Amino acid sequence: MDKIAIFPGSFDPFTIGHESIVKRALPLFDRIIIMVGYNINKKSFFPPEKRKEWIERIFNDEPKISVDVFDGLTVDFCKKVNAVYILRGLRTSSDFEYERAIAQINKQMYPNLETIFLLTLPEHTPVNSTLIRDIILHGGDANRFLPKGLDSKELLASYREYI
Ligand code: ADP
Repeated sequence: MDKIAIFPGSFDPFTIGHESIVKRALPLFDRIIIMVGYNINKKSFFPPEKRKEWIERIFNDEPKISVDVFDGLTVDFCKKVNAVYILRGLRTSSDFEYERAIAQINKQMYPNLETIFLLTLPEHTPVNSTLIRDIILHGGDANRFLPKGLDSKELLASYREYI
């Protein structure tokens, strides 16, 4: 059976931190499905379909990676696509506490699931979507924090259309 992992997140927007986690996890799995989800505790800034399109562009050359938008529970998405691994990244101890609770609750809801954590590379520790988005929405150049192929100006234009 194929080892399928899902990498769920808001990805609002997808950063070099996210990209690095996916690339480093690639040898561990047969397929990785990046799930653009809705976090009801977070306001959304970029349209989910655009976020999907941007991530597809980044991994255009990688057949093991696909991207989906899902408006539901992560465990239900895992069941839908036959995935028993959830991939998540850890930056700080507060990430750990947050992730620990989610992973333990998910495991109770779907006992076959295992959440696999990769520690961020040191240089990506301060990279988070909120800060990068602030730079973009204020008209700054955040390209050094965005994967190759994404551009701050394009993201800003999409935000202006969406809001
Ligand atoms: P969510 O709304 O589910 O927290 P995010 O898009 O903020 O979604 O993050 C998705 C996953 O990527 C989370 O596991 C988060 O900890 C991880 N992540 C975010 N930024 C980084 C980074 N710079 N380095 C490593 N992992 C990261």
